Amino acid sequence: MAVVTGAAGNIGLATATRLARQGADLALLDVDAAKLEQARATLLEHEVRINIHACDVTDNEQVRQTVETVVAELGQIDFLFNNAGYQGAFAPVQDYPEADFARVMQINVVGAFHVLRHVSAHMVARKFGRIVNTASMAGVQGPPNMAAYGASKFAIIGLTEVAAKDLAPYNIRVNAISPAFMGPGFMWDRQVELQAKAGSQYFSTDPKEVVRQMIGSIPMRRYGDINEIPGVVAFLFGDDSSYMTGVNLPISGG
Ligand code: NAD
Repeated sequence: MAVVTGAAGNIGLATATRLARQGADLALLDVDAAKLEQARATLLEHEVRINIHACDVTDNEQVRQTVETVVAELGQIDFLFNNAGYQGAFAPVQDYPEADFARVMQINVVGAFHVLRHVSAHMVARKFGRIVNTASMAGVQGPPNMAAYGASKFAIIGLTEVAAKDLAPYNIRVNAISPAFMGPGFMWDRQVELQAKAGSQYFSTDPKEVVRQMIGSIPMRRYGDINEIPGVVAFLFGDDSSYMTGVNLPISGG
C-alpha cells in the first residue's frame, strides 16, 4: 500500500490515480479535508482501498498518529510519495517576508521530514520501502524571488541523499523528483502572476510575456503536464529502478 501526502493537490492526486490503477491500496493525506474528500470521490472506480486522513504535516504528533492509524487500518506501508508542499511568496531576498519563509520551511522541509521519519521507522522494521520525495528544479538551480521555496527544495534533495544512505541497509530506497514548470494549474498561474508582480530584471511585469519567457527557457518549448509526473514516481517505486537510490530525477523538458 502507498501513502501519498499533498494528495488533494494536482500532482498528489494524479499520482494517487496512477497508483490506484496499478492496484495499490492508498492512504491519502492532506491538510485540506474538503479537497481530500473530493479527491477520494474521483478514485472510487478503482477496486482498491482508499483511506483519507486530514493531516497537517507540520504537526509531528499528528503525523505520528496518522501513520499509526494508516498501519492499523491498511497494514504495511510499501510506498511513500512525500509530496505536500507550498510555493511561498515571490519577492527578492532583501524584502522576503520572514513569516512566509518560516512557513515554507515548516511545510516543505520540516513537514516532509516528519512524514519521512515516521513512515521510514515503520519500513525499517519491515526491511522494505520505496520513498519518493517531491523536490523541484527550484532546488537544483535557485530561481529569482523564491528564497524560501528554492532553499526548501535544495533541502529536500539533501534530505533525500542523507535518507538514502541511512535507509539503504534496510532495503529502503529514497529518491526525489524535480518537476519544473508544470501546467496548467494553480502553481503555474500563481508563479506567472507573482513573478510578473515581483518586478525583477529576470521577468517582465506583463504576465503574458512572463509565460513566453518561461516557456522560452525550456528546451522542449512547452510546460510539462501534471500527468507526465506519475509515471516517473511509479518507475522509482518499481523494480526497474532497483539499483537507484539517493537520486533526484528532473522532470523539466530539458
Ligand atoms: P498543489 O497546491 O496542487 O498541491 C499541494 C498540496 O499540498 C495541497 O493539496 C495542499 O493542501 C497540501 N498541503 C499544503 N500544506 C500542507 C500541510 N501542512 N500538510 C499537509 N498537506 C499540505 O500543488 P502541486 O503542484 O500538486 O504540488 C505538489 C508538490 O510538487 C509540492 O511539493 C510542490 O512544491 C511540488 N512542485 C510542483 C510544481 C508545479 O509546477 N506544480 C513544480 C515543482 C515542484
